[in-house]
Amino acid sequence: MIDIHCHILPGLDDGAQTLENSLAMAKAAVNDGIRKIAATPHHQTSRYNNPKKVVVEKVNQLNDALQKEGIPLEILTGQEVRLFGDWELEYDHDLIATVNDKNYILIEFPANHVPNYAEHLFYEMQTKGLTPVIVHPERNSQIVEQPDKLFSLVEKGAITQVTASSVTGDLGKKIQKFSFQLIEANLTHCVASDAHNTTTRPFHLSAAYEEIEREFGTEIVYMFRENAEYIISGQMIYREDPQPIKRKKILGLF
Ligand code: FE
Repeated sequence: MIDIHCHILPGLDDGAQTLENSLAMAKAAVNDGIRKIAATPHHQTSRYNNPKKVVVEKVNQLNDALQKEGIPLEILTGQEVRLFGDWELEYDHDLIATVNDKNYILIEFPANHVPNYAEHLFYEMQTKGLTPVIVHPERNSQIVEQPDKLFSLVEKGAITQVTASSVTGDLGKKIQKFSFQLIEANLTHCVASDAHNTTTRPFHLSAAYEEIEREFGTEIVYMFRENAEYIISGQMIYREDPQPIKRKKILGLF
């Protein structure tokens, strides 16, 4: 399996703090059946700044350590970029790390809303040949309330990634249910761990695929797994036309 979203690099954000933490996560990933991970430290949040150069350096160091330890896992570059206005300037100065240096870029919204300028910035990214990947939309409270916000971004070419622990129910029944609705409405295109450690925020990737298979059958599982491959190799992903999620009618109104 391939994991396109993971905080495995040591000492950069709220993920692994030490090389020992990173190696423990690497072993857990291999045990879960993962063979490639895009390391995606937070970038441009209020607490963390990790420009591309730093990511590349740490990825090389971790790959060396993995080889020395004989752990069969490959780390690729990436970044989880908080959407911010000066995005283009940073991209032009080579501070932004796309997934495996190809054309997909992980984008994080603030937890409770979708910025109004998202649509415009996504348009800018797409004119540069990049595809924005909205990470864990199921954990954004405004998207949960108004899924149309997500629909309109996906309709215009963005793709999305649900988090494995959301799909398995480890982040609560409500988030799990909404994740299923996103899958059903073709509003999400792949699943990733967003693992931060081996305890409170672990991988759960194989369990998530099992859950998706139970709920939706093998075809979606294949599609999601292949999409992860396409994302790291910079190819077009599979996508079906997105459908709007119908809000529940308020009972007893009429
Ligand atoms: Fe993350």
